[in-house]
Amino acid sequence: MHISHMLIDGTSVSSRKVDTIFNPASGEPVAGVAVGGREEARLALEAAKRAFPVWSSMPAEERSEVLREAARLVRQRRDEIARLLTLEQGKPLKSSRSEVLSAADVLDYYAEEGKRNTGQWLAGPHSRSIVLRQPIGVAALITPWNYPVDLLSWKVAPCLAAGCTFVSKPPSLAPLAATEFVRAVSDAGLPAGAANVVHGPGGTVGAELVESPISRKIAFTGETATGRAVMAAAAARIKRISLELGGQSPFIVCADADLPAAAASAAHRAFSNMGQICVSVNRIYVADEVAEAFTDQLVSLAESLKIGDGMQPGVELGPMFSSQQREKTKEHVADALERGAELLAGGSEPEGEEFSRGFFFRPTVLGRADHSMRVMMEETFGPVAPIMKFRSVQEAVALANDTEYGLAAYVYTGSLKTAMQVAEGLESGGIGVNVNSVIDRQAPFGGWKQSGLGRELGRWGLEAYLETKHIRVGVWKE
Ligand code: NDP
Repeated sequence: MHISHMLIDGTSVSSRKVDTIFNPASGEPVAGVAVGGREEARLALEAAKRAFPVWSSMPAEERSEVLREAARLVRQRRDEIARLLTLEQGKPLKSSRSEVLSAADVLDYYAEEGKRNTGQWLAGPHSRSIVLRQPIGVAALITPWNYPVDLLSWKVAPCLAAGCTFVSKPPSLAPLAATEFVRAVSDAGLPAGAANVVHGPGGTVGAELVESPISRKIAFTGETATGRAVMAAAAARIKRISLELGGQSPFIVCADADLPAAAASAAHRAFSNMGQICVSVNRIYVADEVAEAFTDQLVSLAESLKIGDGMQPGVELGPMFSSQQREKTKEHVADALERGAELLAGGSEPEGEEFSRGFFFRPTVLGRADHSMRVMMEETFGPVAPIMKFRSVQEAVALANDTEYGLAAYVYTGSLKTAMQVAEGLESGGIGVNVNSVIDRQAPFGGWKQSGLGRELGRWGLEAYLETKHIRVGVWKE
């Protein structure tokens, strides 16, 4: 069986402890993974610290060349990284390929953005002030299993472009593709130790990366509860942190919306990756007068999606990532039905021998939803679209904001005035108006409220790895 090794100080590192990674579509073993602990995390941090002066002192133009080569190698190795991603995570192969290509594009983007790290020159009456933006130092990059390559690229690319070095800790249950991604980046000509991967539990490897005096910056994506623990641990050393946490995204369909477009968009964002997306559509609010027509269209789309093993061609929905994820989804559906929701589609596992060993679940639509239900208030992280009717746009905005989360929110309307009123009223880091994605490489991504702190992507993503320095130079007598 293939063993995924760690990458420490430019060397593949094995371990006496080897865990097995299983395919969520079949329960079959995919590969072994060498698991480290606090000691490996410390060794990797020390290697990143040694590499920092070498990498950070390289001209930005030269770092840019390395990032471009990294993007090229990731594209060249796309098929193998995508195959591992589907086998360990379950998503359809086509989606895995797009995820890997998107990660390569992020490397290319920051190859350019890193060259635009400009400071300022300010003239005082007796002095000149030079404002520098310098790389923070060693960064710890901690990521979840739902987009293990993409979300890591959002950290790796700006981190390296800024001149920082890093130790990454991929998710324990899906570390294979992320490790190969970092290996490709490292092979692009980075100094040994600039890019490290340590496998192991969040409670030991992750905790060491956060607590160590060597890491100056923590970039974390994961659950809100884990983010709180990371923030508390980072507070002991006043570390710079970025937290991309959970979401509970509303999707508002106004009476004047293009209904087929809204239904297709909601179905895609509620069910793709089996709803295991931080910006997934979790609650649909639809204007009373168009509720029936919209619901009919959403139900027929949900029922038309092809479920199966992600390695099979034509499959649109793979299995859920784990039995735990599927159980949580079932609990949320059962709770909603007990509280008066109506089951309009899905709600159970698909039938058939080919589904018997994987964590499959049918895309689910619920009618008559309200805020007493867990599915409307907590993060389900499953393929469930609960629908609630509203009478006025003001009511829809108030309902959408009635959550502790604030990552993404969507509105479909034919009126520019309504779009602006709703977009300005929503408490969320990203608003999609007549689109079902708030992710654009050039624009800031991140959450309000319990959904996080700081921003990734665009120039904001680069700034997260830079410190500010003011140099004041006396030029005349004071
Ligand atoms: P977790 O919070 O469980 O884990 C995320 C990462 O943190 C894993 O690598 C985990 O390691 C590690 N970790 C766990 N405990 C600690 C600790 N004490 N110190 C440091 N690291 C630790 O999240 P999931 O993997 O379950 O991912 C799903 C969550 O991620 C959802 O809530 C989702 O909304 C959120 N997410 C947010 C996004 C955003 O951009 N806002 C994007 C995508 C997902 P291990 O695997 O070993 O447990």
